[in-house]
Amino acid sequence: MPSSCWFSNVRSAVAPGDWDRLRKMTYRRPGYRCEACGAPRDPDARRWLEAHERWSYPRETSSGRMIQKLTRLVALCTPCHQATHFGHAQIQGREQSALEHLCHVNGWTRQQAWEHVEAAFAKWQRRSEYVWELDMSMLTSVGVTITPHPRPGSARPTPRPHSTS
Ligand SMILES: [Zn+2]
Repeated sequence: MPSSCWFSNVRSAVAPGDWDRLRKMTYRRPGYRCEACGAPRDPDARRWLEAHERWSYPRETSSGRMIQKLTRLVALCTPCHQATHFGHAQIQGREQSALEHLCHVNGWTRQQAWEHVEAAFAKWQRRSEYVWELDMSMLTSVGVTITPHPRPGSARPTPRPHSTS
C-alpha cells in the first residue's frame, strides 16, 4: 500500500463483528489453507491463517483520478503473510526467514527473491508519489460500514479536490 495512502487496514476500519465474518469467509473459501503455499493452520508450528488485503490501482483515464481499490481478501499463512509485507518483516528482524520462505514457496534462488523484493519496493515508491482515493465498494456492497482511521504515526495528506459530478 502506498505510503501516501492515509488508510491503515481493513481490520481497523470495520466493526469487530464484520471483521470476524470477513476473515472467516476468507479462510473458508480456500478450504482453510494458505492461498499462496497451500499450508494449513498449524498452531504447533506457530502458523496461522491471516486475511491479506489485495488492491488494484486503476487510473480513471477520463478524470485522472488515482484509485486504490480493494479487490479481494486472501487467506495467507503467517510465513507467507510476513514475506508479502517484506518491509515490515525487515523492521521486525525477520528479513532472512521472509527471504527463505519466498525462495521455498516460489522455487527461487536468493538472487531471484531479492530481485522480486526490489521490484516490489520500486513499485511501492512510484505509487507513494500519488494521493489515492479509496474504493472499498467490495465491502460496502455487502453491507459492511467502513470507518477509515489514519495510520499510526502518519499525517493524513491534504486531499486533492476533485469533481464529484
Ligand atoms: Zn503460505
